Amino acid sequence: MKYVSEFRDPPAARRLVATIESLMSRRPKTLQGAPLKIMEVCGGHTHAIFKFGLETLLPETIELVHGPGCPVCVLPVGRVDDAISIATSEGVIFCTYGDALRVPGSRTSLAGAKAEGADVRTVYSPTDALALARANPSRRVVFFGLGFETTAPSTALTLLQAEREGVSNFFVFSNHVTIIPALRALLDAEDLQVDGFIGPGHVSMVIGVEPYHFIAEHYRRPFVVSGFEPLDVLQSIAMVVAQHVEGRAVVENQYSRLVSTQGNSAAQTAIHEVFKPRAHFEWRGLGSIAESGLELQPRFARFDAEQAFRVPALSVADPKACQCGEVLKGQLRPYECKVFGTACTPETPIGSCMVSSEGACAAYYSYGRLTSLRRASGLKVHP
Ligand code: SF4
Repeated sequence: MKYVSEFRDPPAARRLVATIESLMSRRPKTLQGAPLKIMEVCGGHTHAIFKFGLETLLPETIELVHGPGCPVCVLPVGRVDDAISIATSEGVIFCTYGDALRVPGSRTSLAGAKAEGADVRTVYSPTDALALARANPSRRVVFFGLGFETTAPSTALTLLQAEREGVSNFFVFSNHVTIIPALRALLDAEDLQVDGFIGPGHVSMVIGVEPYHFIAEHYRRPFVVSGFEPLDVLQSIAMVVAQHVEGRAVVENQYSRLVSTQGNSAAQTAIHEVFKPRAHFEWRGLGSIAESGLELQPRFARFDAEQAFRVPALSVADPKACQCGEVLKGQLRPYECKVFGTACTPETPIGSCMVSSEGACAAYYSYGRLTSLRRASGLKVHP
């Protein structure tokens, strides 16, 4: 398949693995045997790593840790409760991406609310929700705005369309978040043990590469924006390892076939026209991060679900057994969570990381359980 097969070529993958092994052998003697921790920020990379078994190809001293780049995973319990409160309001059609349906709130999920009678519908884009609003003028249609800068432009453009058309029964419950404040919070954490980053490809298509420079300059960590095919990920790992071995810390762009230095200016303009940073936004497991969430500009107040509906807006603690926070900060591997695969499964999720299609726990559960068990029991991972 054009544009896919060439990025899944086994001989090319073997050459990249050999390059990585060769680079790792050039580490100083004092570091030989010590783990090199590389965080893939984006859940899409986590799934590529497990789907294609990339971790099993790498030297065992390379440890891939998973970051906070799954927007559904970082949605806190309180915001899920707010969404359910809106969805169960009189006359509402609540529209959400399928990923968010089963994220647990404090009592139930959106899927649970739907089972109890709420009109919750899965949509593929905000324009689907706007179409529902046009088709159902007597109902209030609310779109659950989720995602990083990747999806924020489509929500923004849909709101601009709704404004142009004068649609009065369409609302957005914005939970859009931005990646840079989250990365900064992660890097400021005293207990962060990450030697380099594989940067998110999709977000970077919108924001470009320049916003990441502080990571290399201030925090002295290599940062490589990466595509999502197996050869993309392997090449990005090789680029991070090369920087590490050569004592460099710069931002590099492996995904240059789609990501430009400046990003997508039309998408950035749409975001700025419709959204502004919230003073604070709470992230599941990471706590409150300043200016990390997006709310609607005053001009769009009439579309703002938080103003149109009375929501509890409570900060609700994660369930005691849930260790999503440690997983999202790369401090814990999913299989190290006490309830992974037992009390917490995709059918009976306790945390959000087991539900989202980009969640690290879902990736381990779907593709990596054998590897995880081998690692946990000290067995050799390589076949
Ligand atoms: S196994 Fe479940 S509770 Fe544990 S970190 Fe993963 S999603 Fe959270």
